Amino acid sequence: MDSAVKDNLKKIFGFNQFRGNQQLIVDNILKGNNTFVIMPTGAGKSLCYQLPAVSNKGTAIVISPLIALMKNQVDQLNSFGINAHFLNSTLSKTESNRVKGEVSAGLTKLLYVAPESLTKEENVKFLKSADISFVAIDEAHCISEWGHDFRPEYRKIKSIIAQIGDNLPVIALTATATPKVQQDIQRNLQMEEADLFKSSFNRTNLYYEVRPKVKSETKKEIIKYIKSQKGKSGIIYCLSRKKVTEIAELLKVNGINAAPYHAGLDGHVRVKNQDDFLNEEVDVIVATIAFGMGIDKPDVRYVIHYDVPKSLEGYYQETGRSGRDGLEGHCLMFYRYEDIIKLEKFNKDKPVNERENARVLLQEMAAYAESSVCRRRFLLHYFGETLSKDCGFCDNCKKTKETFEGKEDIIKV
Ligand code: ADP
Ligand code: MG
Repeated sequence: MDSAVKDNLKKIFGFNQFRGNQQLIVDNILKGNNTFVIMPTGAGKSLCYQLPAVSNKGTAIVISPLIALMKNQVDQLNSFGINAHFLNSTLSKTESNRVKGEVSAGLTKLLYVAPESLTKEENVKFLKSADISFVAIDEAHCISEWGHDFRPEYRKIKSIIAQIGDNLPVIALTATATPKVQQDIQRNLQMEEADLFKSSFNRTNLYYEVRPKVKSETKKEIIKYIKSQKGKSGIIYCLSRKKVTEIAELLKVNGINAAPYHAGLDGHVRVKNQDDFLNEEVDVIVATIAFGMGIDKPDVRYVIHYDVPKSLEGYYQETGRSGRDGLEGHCLMFYRYEDIIKLEKFNKDKPVNERENARVLLQEMAAYAESSVCRRRFLLHYFGETLSKDCGFCDNCKKTKETFEGKEDIIKV
C-alpha cells in the first residue's frame, strides 16, 4: 500500500491501524477492482470507501438509504476536513446546485446520494459529466427481497451506474450475510466476479439469552433487570409505537431514566431523546426498529427485545448495537409463540411473494428462539458460518453446563 494512504488513515481519520480486512479492501478498491464487503455492523465499513475516496482523484459516489445517516456521515467527514456533500430531497435547488458546483470543480471527495435522487434524470446527467472515481453502495442488502430492509429503488442502481460511466468500479457493502442475500446482491449488481471480503460475524463479547414472555411478569422482570444495571446504557426494542410509549412510561414511573423513540414522535423530540441517550442523560431508550441504524454509541451494555424481531438479520443488527467497545453486551429477548402469530397476521396484506419471504424469515426467528442448541452456533450458521464448538457464552450453553455439572454431582453421590 502507498504510504500516503496509510498516512491519511492516521492524519485524516485519526486511526493508528486498520481493523480486520480494511487494508485489503482499501487496496483492492484503489486498484479499481469491483469489491464486495460483508462485515458486521460496527466493524468499520465506512472507512473502506472513505479512505480510497480521499486518496483517489475525482469524486466517489456513496449510495446510502437513509437521509439522517447521510447527514451524520457528511458532518463527520467535514469535521475531519474532507470535502463531502450529499444530494437528497432535503436540499433546495440552490443548495443542490452549489453541491454540484463543488463536484464539477473537482473539490468533493465523497458525494452521498439517496437512491431516489440517483434515479432523477437531471442528476444522472450531471453525474455523467463529473469525474467519478468509484461508486460505493452502502447497506447493499436493501437490494434483496430476502434482506430485512428491501428498497425497490436499490434495484435500479446498477443500470444508473452503467449510464454514469463505463466500467466504474463498484463496491457493495452490507452487514447482512445470509447466503441468499449475498447471491441476490451479486446477481442484481452483476458483481459475481467481484472480489469478496467477508469477515466473521461472531461477536464474542455478546451474551445471548432468550426468556419466556409472560404478560405482567416480563415487565416486572425488565424493571428488575434494568435496576440491576444502574447507570449503564441499554436499548429496549418493541414492535409498535404504542408499546414503546407504554414501556417507556412504565419505566419512568418506576424511577428509571428512560425515553421513547419511534418514527411517530415529533422530529425534535426524537432528536432530543436520541441525543440525551448518546450524551448519557438518559440511560434507557425504548424504541421501535426506527432507532439505531448508524447510531454509534460504543458502551451500550444491553439490548432487550420486548417483542420478537421479524427476522434473524434484524435480531443480529439490533443486538449488535450492544458492546461495540468490545466489552460485554447482554442480548436479552423475551419470546412467546403468540408474537410470531401476531407478526404473521401483519403480513396478510402483503403480495404473495413478500408474504412467503416474510413467513420464512419469521419461522427462522422462531426456530432460534425455541432452540436449545448454542445460540451463537445457530446464529452464525444462519449467516453461513460454522462454529467449531459451542460458545459457552449464551443461555443454552450455560444451561447445558449446569445440567452436566448437576449430573456429575449425582454420580458422585
Ligand atoms: P459499520 O458501517 O461497519 O457498521 P462504521 O463504519 O460505522 O461501521 O464504523 C464503526 C466504528 O468503528 C466507528 O466509530 C469508526 O470510527 C470506528 N472505526 C472504523 N475503522 C477503525 C479503525 N481502523 N480503528 C479504530 N476505529 C475504527
Ligand atoms: Mg455502515
